[in-house]
Amino acid sequence: MMPDRVTSNIATERIRILFKLAEENITSHPTRSKRYIDLIRKIASRNRIHIPKELKRRICRGCKNLLTPSNSHIRIRHTREPHVAITCHNCGHVSRIPLRRR
Ligand SMILES: [Zn+2]
Repeated sequence: MMPDRVTSNIATERIRILFKLAEENITSHPTRSKRYIDLIRKIASRNRIHIPKELKRRICRGCKNLLTPSNSHIRIRHTREPHVAITCHNCGHVSRIPLRRR
């Protein structure tokens, strides 16, 4: 069953609010921040919606923590397929985001 538009809009809105809370708590309360991320993932799967792309790329795929400039580093790679590589200092996972040419 496809989610109706109103339900998924509300869910997306909740995701954005929770993401903001996760960001605000990442340094002072990292455990709480992680719980917000867990909640975001639960809401997304329960409502069968995707986490907005710009938020999703800021969540580590390895440990599911919020990636910030202080717990990760970003490099732009110009190998065969140009991409941005984000290394998580928490678990060492490297997320790669391809840079698509237009
Ligand atoms: Zn990680």
